[in-house]
Amino acid sequence: MAELRWITTDAPGDKRALFDTVVERRIGRGAYRGLEFLHVESRTIINRVPHSSALPFEYTINAYRGCSHACTYCFARPSHDYLGLGIGRDFDTKIVVKVNAPEILRHETAPQRWAGHPIAMGTNTDPYQAAEGKYKLTRQIVEILAERGNPFSILTKSPLVLRDLDVLTQAAETAEISVNFSIGTLDTDAWSRSEPGTAHPRKRLDAVRRLNEAGVSSGVLMMPVLPGISDQPQQVEELVKGAAEAGARFIMGGYLHVRGPLKDHVLGWIDRDYPHLSRFYRHTYGTRSYAPPAMRRRLGGLIRRSKTAHGAPGGERRPPRDTTPGKQPDPQLALFS
Ligand code: SF4
Repeated sequence: MAELRWITTDAPGDKRALFDTVVERRIGRGAYRGLEFLHVESRTIINRVPHSSALPFEYTINAYRGCSHACTYCFARPSHDYLGLGIGRDFDTKIVVKVNAPEILRHETAPQRWAGHPIAMGTNTDPYQAAEGKYKLTRQIVEILAERGNPFSILTKSPLVLRDLDVLTQAAETAEISVNFSIGTLDTDAWSRSEPGTAHPRKRLDAVRRLNEAGVSSGVLMMPVLPGISDQPQQVEELVKGAAEAGARFIMGGYLHVRGPLKDHVLGWIDRDYPHLSRFYRHTYGTRSYAPPAMRRRLGGLIRRSKTAHGAPGGERRPPRDTTPGKQPDPQLALFS
């Protein structure tokens, strides 16, 4: 069987590679038609993010690579390139499945080896993307972490997480956990163009509500807001209002962030779907990865005012995070799912 180039960490810039063997290729059928699953036997499952990273967590688990949610702006697309696959359609359809993830996790979190650090899921791929309906790896991971009383957080765009409400509520009884949703807009046109494989954002808000009602802390990351597409005051306010009504424990937002090969991918999409914004996007992101400070301040003001207007948590509460000394959260970098 073929070998797949594989990186040992989710941290951007760390390209240390090892090789995991693709043990099987499965063509998706029925609900999974159009997808191809590449089964690998992973050597490790808990990734340690380098301490120098600005990411707000130190340990991550990603049982899948690639993501059928197919968000045009996905920060993780370049990681498929490291695997020797394309960052476009390959990322959306060729899903690497670490079929032995639960077995490896049980070994790595044995009490004599593991100090119970918080673990973040959803940092480089959505743990509740379509493949999870078939493989149930995330469910098994949650079961193991619940057994261990290990704190964890999940970032997702999928209401499929509600399937696991039983084990999530069990986990919430013994450790600090949270299941947070990435929702960039409630605008149906902007959503369907930018996140074609995801559930409608209103279904995500409903999941936020149901999780909080069940005692599982759930907040909303309004990311990425797309300049000129989903950053109008009424769009921002509609989303903040919906999140507040769903009982979101926190609401944070931020603009699109693009860098490296992702920038060309996103600009190509803008050219095709929003040609009237091509010049604006090149002006905004041509020489930088983040939106200009003035735009970010404006968006921050819109979100704050909307939160005040709709009685949302004041924004002081941030998502539960790794408490390892020296780790500083960067909300802009919290966007992966
Ligand atoms: S942004 Fe998240 S949900 Fe969207 S494709 Fe990337 S990993 Fe999947």
